[in-house]
Amino acid sequence: GILIKDAATLEKLHKVNTVVVDKTGTITKGKPELVHVQNLSKLSDEKLISLLATLESKSEHPIAHAVLEYAKAKGSSLLPLSHFEIIKGKGLRATIENTEYFAGNTKLISDLHLAFDLSKIESETMQGKTPVILAIKDDVLGVVMVADAIKPEAIQAVKDLHQLGIKIVMLTGDHKNTALAIAKQVGIDDVVAEVLPDDKLSKIKELQNQGRVVAMAGDGINDAPALAQADVGIAMGTGADVAIETAGM
Ligand code: ADP
Ligand code: MG
Repeated sequence: GILIKDAATLEKLHKVNTVVVDKTGTITKGKPELVHVQNLSKLSDEKLISLLATLESKSEHPIAHAVLEYAKAKGSSLLPLSHFEIIKGKGLRATIENTEYFAGNTKLISDLHLAFDLSKIESETMQGKTPVILAIKDDVLGVVMVADAIKPEAIQAVKDLHQLGIKIVMLTGDHKNTALAIAKQVGIDDVVAEVLPDDKLSKIKELQNQGRVVAMAGDGINDAPALAQADVGIAMGTGADVAIETAGM
């Protein structure tokens, strides 16, 4: 089930001594589920989910699918939205019913200078769950937690690579606690978390400058530049078209 695009890729592959992996969709299944809602507002839970699902309805991130599936199961309806915008590596924003809403990670919330008590999410991020925070410009409305199961075969793959003496680094835009928890479950000891898409590329360059021969495995649009920079790019068959096009395997 492995497609190798050209002989050069195959030749380079046996020289690889460092494998960089993305988390979501590469080490995990990439099909997260919404597992917990913390409503911190005066809104009803229904309204909170409806607002969040409306924002996520324009996103293609796996998180968006988790939110929309949950909203659908709850029979929640989507609202009209305008001014939708993706905030790279952090989340998204849009206007609904004349109010601007934001959904995303803790970086987004600190960019907005909103007070948010991180202890509210700590125990769940330590279990490998990802927080999605819904906010308006001066208040946090709620947090939902999203959980993505690891691919069972990832554990063996990491073991096999380690046995070959290959260094494995996980590179992800996700929360640090979440990334560390997932990495621990599969046996990866080197983690770079909360990286913006452009920084994935620089991290590959940095490893190459240290003299390492790097293979990068990923599935997302945001992985494509890093896949192109790596000595060998490996895209998941389930990944975004641009990732598959960019990779040699
Ligand atoms: P990754 O593929 O590692 O998740 P991204 O750059 O796509 O990297 O996203 C980085 C982080 O930004 C995510 O882990 C998530 O916290 C947040 N984020 C991205 N897109 C969304 C979204 N649609 N809804 C909520 N949060 C998002
Ligand atoms: Mg991914």
